[in-house]
Amino acid sequence: SFPSESAAAHETNPSVDEHGGQRVINLDHGDPTMYEQYWKAMGDKTTIVIPGWQSMSYFSAGKNLCWFLEPELATQIVRLHKVAGNAVTEGRHIVVGTGSSQLFLAALYALSPQDSSNPISVVSTAPYYSSYPLMTDCVKSGLHKWAGDAKQFDKDEPYIELVTSPNNPDGFIRHSVVNRTGGILIHDLAYYWPQYTPISAPSDYDLTMFTVSKSTGHAGTRIGWALVKDVEVAKRMVKFIELNTIGVSKDSQLRAAKVLEVVSDSSEQAGGSEYPESFFHFSHALMTERWRLLREAVKDSGLFSLPKFSPAHCSFFDNNLGTQPAFSWLRCDGDDVDDCESFFRGHKILVRGGKHFGVSPKYVRVSMLDREETYNLFIERLSQISS
Ligand code: PMP
Repeated sequence: SFPSESAAAHETNPSVDEHGGQRVINLDHGDPTMYEQYWKAMGDKTTIVIPGWQSMSYFSAGKNLCWFLEPELATQIVRLHKVAGNAVTEGRHIVVGTGSSQLFLAALYALSPQDSSNPISVVSTAPYYSSYPLMTDCVKSGLHKWAGDAKQFDKDEPYIELVTSPNNPDGFIRHSVVNRTGGILIHDLAYYWPQYTPISAPSDYDLTMFTVSKSTGHAGTRIGWALVKDVEVAKRMVKFIELNTIGVSKDSQLRAAKVLEVVSDSSEQAGGSEYPESFFHFSHALMTERWRLLREAVKDSGLFSLPKFSPAHCSFFDNNLGTQPAFSWLRCDGDDVDDCESFFRGHKILVRGGKHFGVSPKYVRVSMLDREETYNLFIERLSQISS
């Protein structure tokens, strides 16, 4: 067809690309664009204006150990954890980072023995978040080295264990597994929010990381925070960020503070004229519907299987609820499909295969957080594959 014709077809039919072919559906990354819908409906509630003279200094006002932490962001972090009931903040130092990714590197730096001749082993139970091995070893540090699946770790020496709960990629609640003396834990709770999993109790660990990327969907703002018990560990994390980026964008921190404020307001005033629906109710309902559609399509196909989760009590919604992770962890069940990622690529669906997460290529991870149009297209194509 003529380019102009196929372009027109593309405009009216989202399953077709600009050449009239089947459109590629990219669900490889966990890009949280699903949340745009809510924030558009919120209009100007999260709009902030920053005059040219503001936030010019490297330093933040306030008396935080983390000298570049904006006091308003600290206030809204503490408030949101109270509202969500997902973390104890008393007796913790807050360290802000350029995403929780920077905090992960800062935590490894801070927790690794500084005077050891050997790098400390870093482990996580497979399937683990695919970035952990890459980030741990990217500068071939003398301080730490990736040592793989925590379940296989049998060395009698100190180690750092990364506990991601709910887990990326499979969505299960996790606890530490090595449990030996000399072990140091980092809890990555990026997905411990009510829209994804029942909130059973406020988390209360030594070092816990959160991020706006997965809580509110503002991945582009690049703001994460760590709640750190030990003052010396917090100081070393701050030192790392000082050496790495001399602090964290004030503009981003102020924007994140506003977004967190509106999330808390929307929960406290839900049902009123300002906030007909809270952010967590909206996002929980959307995730419920997406998982319903996915389970239906998977059941009809008979080609794949999905993890099974038991319902649990959620203190936030005060209800017994299921789990609806930010990723689906699909297994290609057919004996003729060894590489599930290639199988999906053959159907023009880009997903991340099991080997990136330290497990069999029969598994793939699929983002559940893309825009409505892309998600619906994915469900439609999944149904076509089976028929
Ligand atoms: N931890 C986990 C488990 C994640 O899935 C992600 C994002 N994919 C991150 C950390 C990094 O998030 P951020 O955008 O805050 O750097």
